[in-house]
Amino acid sequence: MVDLNTQYLNIKTELNTAVQNVFDETAFINGPQVDKFAFELSDYTGSKFIIPCANGTDALQISMMALGFKPGDEIIVPAFTYIATVEVISLLGLIPVFIDVNEFTFNLNTDELESKITSKTVGIVTVHLYGQCSNMEEILKISKTHDLKVIEDTAQAIGAIYTFLDGTKKQAGTMGDIGTTSFFPSKNLGCYGDGGAIFTNDASLAHKIKMIANHGQSVKYFHDTIGVNSRLDTLQAAILSVKLRYLDKYTKSRNEVAEKYDNAFKNNSSIIIPKRNINSTHVFHQYTIILKQDIDRQEFKNYLSKCGIPTMVYYPLPLHLQKAYLSYGGKEGQFPVSEKLCKTVLSLPIHTEMKNTEQDYIIEKISEYFNKTN
Ligand SMILES: *Cc1c(COP(=O)(O)O)cnc(C)c1O
Repeated sequence: MVDLNTQYLNIKTELNTAVQNVFDETAFINGPQVDKFAFELSDYTGSKFIIPCANGTDALQISMMALGFKPGDEIIVPAFTYIATVEVISLLGLIPVFIDVNEFTFNLNTDELESKITSKTVGIVTVHLYGQCSNMEEILKISKTHDLKVIEDTAQAIGAIYTFLDGTKKQAGTMGDIGTTSFFPSKNLGCYGDGGAIFTNDASLAHKIKMIANHGQSVKYFHDTIGVNSRLDTLQAAILSVKLRYLDKYTKSRNEVAEKYDNAFKNNSSIIIPKRNINSTHVFHQYTIILKQDIDRQEFKNYLSKCGIPTMVYYPLPLHLQKAYLSYGGKEGQFPVSEKLCKTVLSLPIHTEMKNTEQDYIIEKISEYFNKTN
């Protein structure tokens, strides 16, 4: 699905130098590279404050703690996303209120948003799934009317740009109260281990986030609030500074791969190619097709696997039907779009080092499969 080795080899000298510097300085925790990277990412994203932390899941948890959500508060969250988003809601004693997603953009369906809001609702977590922004215009409008906080889970969409109706452009993660991201190795901006960051434009929120990520202290050994220990390693920060310089180039190559898949499959009657949200650019963390319902996905997947082509199902079961979350009252049929997508989506290999010959082979094998069965 990704080729991290070739990507590394292409920038090996720069990365090795950056890592060697950290070894030479031996400031493994909170070394100067961490602040440097936060500053560069702030410059890149346009987010006033960037607080690095240990991973994308922590970023979500710390955000919810900083926003002062209390046990029993309700948080609206899409039923079709990665588990991390909802996990921290439950861990903090908050109530996840699931919402269905848009059939084509895979993002939270804003038409259903207002019907989910109760007197207990305090926030919305939207996920910019697969690499394009949710309908932020509507989400921000509704959240303002109902005085709700907005967290943007930007783990899959770093660098995506959203255009508001008035023409203002903003990056994913910088539009709500808080944005969170992950630097897991296979993410678009990935480090060589775990890493994450929290974005905000609000100075007092940034202060709180920083404190919570650091054991609830702003002065060492004086703890003003209950916090956690969540840091980005200096080594990872040094690696990320190098890789951030390539992010735009990487996004461009992902888009080229996506476009080539689009052209190859747009006339294939068994495949729906990923639709673009008209207000957002796409950074293609995943290239995810929808298979028409008469196609046996498992058989297709097995066939590709036999041809040496990996594919993945993100995600096979919606959150409301996960065993661990059934106690919140999830029922089959409740979120038909999410449930259908779980049965029909398939993500194809997409990465920054994909060779033309590799992609031609994938396209050829996929086309052969449908020519045979049709
Ligand atoms: C990867 C991911 C996360 C979690 O990131 P980690 O760094 O693995 O904790 C959260 N949300 C989404 C949508 C993700 O894709």
